[in-house]
Amino acid sequence: MDEIYVIGHKNPDTDSICSAIVYASLKGYIPARQGELNKETAFVLDYFKVPVPQVLESGEGKKLVCVDHNEASQMITGWDKAEIVEIIDHHKINFNYGTPIYFHSEPIGCTATIIAKQNQEAVKANPALAGLLLSAILSDTVIFKSPTATGEDRAMASLLAEASGIKDMISFGIELKTKNADIEGRSVEEIISSDFKDFDFNGKKIGIGQIEVAESGGIESKAKEIVDSLQSLKQSGYEAVFFMATDIIKGGTRLFFVGDPVIVEKAFGAKPENNAIYLPGVMSRKKQIVPNLEKAFS
Ligand code: MG
Ligand code: MG
Ligand code: MG
Repeated sequence: MDEIYVIGHKNPDTDSICSAIVYASLKGYIPARQGELNKETAFVLDYFKVPVPQVLESGEGKKLVCVDHNEASQMITGWDKAEIVEIIDHHKINFNYGTPIYFHSEPIGCTATIIAKQNQEAVKANPALAGLLLSAILSDTVIFKSPTATGEDRAMASLLAEASGIKDMISFGIELKTKNADIEGRSVEEIISSDFKDFDFNGKKIGIGQIEVAESGGIESKAKEIVDSLQSLKQSGYEAVFFMATDIIKGGTRLFFVGDPVIVEKAFGAKPENNAIYLPGVMSRKKQIVPNLEKAFS
C-alpha cells in the first residue's frame, strides 16, 4: 500500500498538528507538518510526550489527508500534483477537485472534535492521543470563549480530559494558551507570521494573521512596528493585510491592517484610526473576521 501523509495547514497550529498526529496514529498513516511548531504546540507535544511530526516539503507525488484546512492557499506546495484522498475540516469550504474524495466538514469549534467523535473508543483508550485532541479543542475554541465553540466541543473535551488524566481542563487551557501570548524576545515579523493565513476573496489576495494575548500583553507599544511590517508584507503582493491581536482574557480583538480603510469600515461598521480598530467580543478569525471581510471585498 502507498504511504499516506496526514497534514494540516501552513503555519500550523495545535489543531493542525494534533489532529494530524492522532488521525495518522489511528489509521496507520504518517503524520506530517508544514513549517515550525508554535510555542503552544511545542508545549503540548512535550507535555504528552509525543514526537514532533516530520516536515513535508512538497506534496508532489504523495497521497495526502488534509486536516484543519481545505483552501488551496493554505495547502502544502505541490498539492496539485498530489493525490488528496480525504479532507477533515471545520472551516468554510473553498475546494474544487477533479475526482470524488472523502470530505468531512462540520461547523464546529475544532477538527479534533470531529476526529474524537468518529473514534471515541480508540481515543479514550489512549491518554496521550486524548490529551492531544483535548489541547487542540482548548486552543481552537480559546477555552470555549470563541463563538466557534459548540456543545459538541465541550462534551468531547470533558470526555478527553477524563481519558487523558487532565483534572482541571480550564487551567490546563490557560497554561497552554498563554504560551503563544508571550511576545517577549520575538520580532514583530515573527509574531505576525506565526499564525498567518492567506485567503482568496473574489480574486484578491488577502492575508490575516492572529496572535492571542493576555491583557493586551504589550502589543499596543508595538503598534507602529506592526503596521510597518504589514506594509512590507502588502508590497509582496497582497491587496490588504490584517493582524488580529486577540485578548483571551478581555475577549476582544485589536485589528491592525494596511489596505483600504473604507473596506474595514464597511466590514465592521466602525471607523478605523491609525490603521487599527478595536472589536469588542471578537475572538474568531474564521467566524467573525473572514466572513465580514469577504463580503466587504466582493
Ligand atoms: Mg487551524
Ligand atoms: Mg482548527
Ligand atoms: Mg486557529
